[in-house]
Amino acid sequence: MSSIFTKIINREIPAVIVYEDELCISFRDIDPKAPQHILLVPKKEIKSLAEATEEDAPLLGHLLVKAAEIARDQGFSDSGYRVVINTNKDGGQAVYHIHLHILGGRQMEWPPG
Ligand code: 5GP
Repeated sequence: MSSIFTKIINREIPAVIVYEDELCISFRDIDPKAPQHILLVPKKEIKSLAEATEEDAPLLGHLLVKAAEIARDQGFSDSGYRVVINTNKDGGQAVYHIHLHILGGRQMEWPPG
């Protein structure tokens, strides 16, 4: 069964898309936790970071570079942002299709909850 994010990739459900290329798609989180809350998802359905392999290294690198580009394009790079990959149960992962959260537009706290 395809993930909810694959349904967005396939345009089966709507999303506010901010970036797309042959490897990934980026769209606004439906339930934002910051003024800027964008998700970046590879089109390959890797379930979680814990399941990524050496073969995925170029893809994961691509995602990080694109996360920085998206923050720049959306105008919150200079003020700053946080990139998060929630992983498995204790990491707070809800959707088992690996994704980066790009959070900005306010001061982030540390340590995270
Ligand atoms: P996780 O908890 O797995 O790291 O994050 C999943 C994220 O996906 C959550 O922040 C949640 O709000 C977001 N999300 C879940 N379903 C949808 C959806 O259908 N559309 C969008 N745009 N975001 C979603």
